[in-house]
Amino acid sequence: MVARTIVKIDEELCDGCGVCISPCAEGALVLENGKAKVIREELCDGAGVCLAVCPTGALSLEVREAAEFSEIAVEKHLASQPRTYIPQNCSLCGTSEDDSCLIAYKHKGQSQWCCTRCLPRLIHG
Ligand code: SF4
Repeated sequence: MVARTIVKIDEELCDGCGVCISPCAEGALVLENGKAKVIREELCDGAGVCLAVCPTGALSLEVREAAEFSEIAVEKHLASQPRTYIPQNCSLCGTSEDDSCLIAYKHKGQSQWCCTRCLPRLIHG
């Protein structure tokens, strides 16, 4: 155990939408009994990419004693689970994240996704 940054989930605020599962490249987040959960501490690197997409503000980062992040554990975990995410689509053209890289952004309180092909349109209108 080490003191480090790790994702914190407020179960009162989590509505189980599952939107945070996909952005986690390490597959550290799962839905369990309708709530997001860090499946194993060693899988969460504390980068906080998931925070941007949570529509309810249930996700935050905290510094606490936790198992050390392990890239080896992540590799094994991802290899054992072919898909640990719910595919999201670009809000502008509908392209799936399985076909293009998607970037999360927020607009008027809504969490949205934009594929790299639509990014110039998002930036320049
Ligand atoms: S995005 Fe937020 S509300 Fe949705 S499952 Fe994840 S933590 Fe819960």
